Amino acid sequence: MIKLNNVSVRYGKNQVLSNINLEINEGENLIILGPNGSGKTTLLKTIMGLIHFEGEIEIDGKNINSFSRSEIARYISYVPQIFTTPFSFTVKEFVSMGLYRKKRDYWDEEKDVEEALKMTNIYDLKDKYINKISGGELQKCLIARALVQDSIFIAMDEPMSHLDVKAVLEISSIVASLSSQGKGIVIISHDVNIIKNLNGNILLLKNGNISFLGKEENPDFVSSLERVFEVKVHKNDDIYYFTKL
Ligand code: ADP
Repeated sequence: MIKLNNVSVRYGKNQVLSNINLEINEGENLIILGPNGSGKTTLLKTIMGLIHFEGEIEIDGKNINSFSRSEIARYISYVPQIFTTPFSFTVKEFVSMGLYRKKRDYWDEEKDVEEALKMTNIYDLKDKYINKISGGELQKCLIARALVQDSIFIAMDEPMSHLDVKAVLEISSIVASLSSQGKGIVIISHDVNIIKNLNGNILLLKNGNISFLGKEENPDFVSSLERVFEVKVHKNDDIYYFTKL
């Protein structure tokens, strides 16, 4: 479990996160939603120990400040929003890079990489160059690399933001299968309807404060959504859409 107790973050004089209290469990999805600038990426980076914070973060009951970077990497892997590289790695080489975060004794390179490629449906692409594949395929490579890292938690920063609807559905079902296999997923999304594809806890952030934390079924969810995004929320055929207040 990752536990945040009264976590606050400041960039200079700018308070970006205020007194965040949160538990992230293995086998669960935590979906972080909120307007631009509300602190979503900062929260994700703080959970990964990348940003100085006040308060306390515990991983499995131990203070995160007592972990080295490579120890944190054994707990949490990261799937970034945008990834570009000028280098021509093959898909297989790129996915293999996740192994460097693992302890050498546990390496079983071929098997681990092959499993991750198959799980993310990119096995047939393994010899292609990553700068010659589509955005959706690259996103699957990033997820496969995180899988090879074999961490307990995976933090994803808007992994579906540049993808077409079919790729969004495919990646959603890969992510859903990860949590059902016991991984803890923390995922930022700009699309509220992701909660239809990914069952989990929803965290609504506004100005660095938690405005809502709970399930979609919670009677406060829609009013919180309206308050956080400053829109009127409608639901049709189980899909949320928005109009101006
Ligand atoms: P979100 O992911 O919700 O769009 P961010 O966490 O990226 O929000 O940013 C939250 C606030 O912190 C914004 O006001 C942003 O301008 C500011 N911010 C983000 N990164 C930095 C930084 N490295 N230095 C200073 N301010 C930053």
